[in-house]
Amino acid sequence: MRPRHWWHPRSMRRFGRIFFLFAAGVSLLLCVAAAGFWVRSYMAWESLFWEDFPRSVGLVTSRGALMARVDDNLGHFGPFPSGPAHWSYRALPTYDLRATTTAVIYLRQTVVPGVDVGRAYMGGTNVRVIIVPLWSVVLLTALLPLSADVSILRGRARRRRLLAGCCPLCGYDCRATPGRCSECGRVFAVENAGMGV
Ligand SMILES: [Zn+2]
Repeated sequence: MRPRHWWHPRSMRRFGRIFFLFAAGVSLLLCVAAAGFWVRSYMAWESLFWEDFPRSVGLVTSRGALMARVDDNLGHFGPFPSGPAHWSYRALPTYDLRATTTAVIYLRQTVVPGVDVGRAYMGGTNVRVIIVPLWSVVLLTALLPLSADVSILRGRARRRRLLAGCCPLCGYDCRATPGRCSECGRVFAVENAGMGV
C-alpha cells in the first residue's frame, strides 16, 4: 500500500468520518441523558444553577419540559447570595413550568411549536428563559446517532457486495466485468477478497 499524506482526499474523508462517528457518539450520550431527564422530570422538579454573582445560569426540568434560565442581577439586589461562585441544586415536587413561569414572566411562543421564550425585569434582575419540550431534545440528539447507524450499515452492505464481486451500488453480479457494473455503469476499485486469508 502506498503511504498517504494526511491531506490526501481519502485521508481527509477518513478524518471527516472519524469526527462524524465521534460526534454521533457524543450525541448518543446526550440523547440517553435527555431521555433519562425526561422520565425524571415527571417525578421531581429539579434545577441546577451556576451561581456566579451577579449572574446565575442554569437548567430546570419538570413535567416533560426543560427550561434554560439566565438571571443578571443588574441592580445588585434580589435573590442572589453573595460569595464565591458555586453550583446550586434543588429538587421539589413537579409543577408545570410554563404555567408558573407565565405567572411572572410574559412567555412568547416561537416559530418552533412547543418552544417558548421569555424576558422580564424583576426587582433589579434581568431574567431570560427559554422552555423546550424534553422529547424534542431526545429527538434532535437521536438524529446523528441514527444517521451514523444507517451509514455504518450501508458501509457494511457495500463491503459485503464488493467482497462477493458485486456492484457496491446496486448489488449486480460483476464477476464477469471486475471494476465496472454492466447494470448501473458504476466504476469501482476491486476489493482483494483474499488478502492471503
Ligand atoms: Zn451496479
